[in-house]
Amino acid sequence: MAINREWHATHKLPRNAKLDERLNWHVMHAANCDCREIPASIKRELEARGLSVPSPRSLK
Ligand SMILES: [Zn+2]
Repeated sequence: MAINREWHATHKLPRNAKLDERLNWHVMHAANCDCREIPASIKRELEARGLSVPSPRSLK
């Protein structure tokens, strides 16, 4: 598991982030950093919206 510290330093997720912000953050996070998995609740919401879950490997 590699952490992209530069990305994290510039992409903070507020504690009171709305669901849309959380979804967007996790999609961006999954594409840019590998330090943790997308939570199951977020994955379910992405699937419910017909969005695919990106992985860092798919971009490189
Ligand atoms: Zn990360």
